[in-house]
Amino acid sequence: MTPPTTSGRTLQSEVLFERACRVTPGGVNSPVRAFRSVGGTPRFMVSGQGPWLTDVDGNRYVDLVCSWGPMILGHAHPAVVEAVQRAAEKGLSFGTPTEGELELAEEIIGRVPPVQQVRLVNSGTEATMSAVRLARGVTERPVVVKFAGCYHGHVDALLAQAGSGVATFGLAASPGVTGGQAVDTVVLPYNDLDAVQATFARRGSEIACVITEAAAGNMGAVAPWPGFNRGLREVCESYGALLIMDEVMTGFRVTPAGWYGLDPVSADLYTFGKVMSGGLPAAAFGGRSELMAYLSPEGPVYQAGTLSGNPVAVAAGLATLRTADFGVYFALDRAATRLGELITLALTAQGVPHRVQYAGNLLSVFFAEEEVVDYDGAAASQTWRYPPFFHALLDAGVYPPPSAFESWFVSAALDDDAFEVIEAAMPAAALAAAGAVAPFGTDGPV
Ligand SMILES: *Cc1c(COP(=O)(O)O)cnc(C)c1O
Repeated sequence: MTPPTTSGRTLQSEVLFERACRVTPGGVNSPVRAFRSVGGTPRFMVSGQGPWLTDVDGNRYVDLVCSWGPMILGHAHPAVVEAVQRAAEKGLSFGTPTEGELELAEEIIGRVPPVQQVRLVNSGTEATMSAVRLARGVTERPVVVKFAGCYHGHVDALLAQAGSGVATFGLAASPGVTGGQAVDTVVLPYNDLDAVQATFARRGSEIACVITEAAAGNMGAVAPWPGFNRGLREVCESYGALLIMDEVMTGFRVTPAGWYGLDPVSADLYTFGKVMSGGLPAAAFGGRSELMAYLSPEGPVYQAGTLSGNPVAVAAGLATLRTADFGVYFALDRAATRLGELITLALTAQGVPHRVQYAGNLLSVFFAEEEVVDYDGAAASQTWRYPPFFHALLDAGVYPPPSAFESWFVSAALDDDAFEVIEAAMPAAALAAAGAVAPFGTDGPV
């Protein structure tokens, strides 16, 4: 663990973090925010504007996390803020249907052709939990196949060998998930179609669904090999299992239609969150009408939510999607390429072995010689180079994800001023990565 090099400029964050640790476990409401794997004090943010975040000590950062995905337009985009204000003035929640909900549903359905109906929920976790329940209800089978390093929220049955914080903290699963909840989960290596086929050959009649990230972004950015998603589609079809494409991270970010726009494989069910929330709590799952008809009140599979389809959250999501035109997606792609090039340039100049990997405009940097194609590859990379790299960037006013296992998220608001700060920050960060020392016992070939 490298101690943070920032000094004096983080006093207010340190004071708040100490207070936070007294009232909430680890001082945070979601684990990776705590900076545990990079060390140092998490920054308490007070405002965001375009590509910038400002913390409580007055430090300004170029935001390359974007609230872990949602903020594709940048912070406090006027169209989104105005939509939220207008919605809030009319009342915050009614517990009745509203027109905004169906407009958001229509927007999603209009963008992703295999989705004919959606149900709105409050988080990606709820979306995947409900999609898996629906798949089990439809097929009347118990088993769920997932991939190591893929994260689908903190659903009990899906925490086994998960990505994101579970990977960041090196957990195999989580205490509190009982054998009964995990026994019907089969975990396979990502990008390994042979393993999927072998599993179906043995247990095909028990498998309700395969759930996969449309492109893996929670072990770093690891795109599916060409044909992987299509292969999953074919195996599922031949055994009567459902394919759940988790597009919570990729949806409406990598193209207007999400990963489907790059790799048009029709899944049975989809899950969405992050971008479609506009930054407020909203998510969705959807698919073919005949499958969605199994949900209550139309069908027997129960699913509900007091705040589901909340009018303010719906307004934020709708304004975000309506603003996200082709120009926005063009800007996102260009920003991702520009960022990746700056990282590569700096690390190459310092002779640091690395791969900048893309999944659409998601990207991450692996300190590895070989392309990372699965979780074993991600875990074998020189993750100990990441903390000093991270802190050098942070000190220079750039906010990358505080974990080697998370994707970097660009926004369309990243402008030349922001890129100037990134460019200026990179040489020192690369030097810090080059000078990182392997912890005892982990040195060796990349
Ligand atoms: C973030 C994420 C989730 C969980 O969403 P929450 O809103 O954090 O519950 C699920 N699946 C994927 C692929 C994600 O990236």
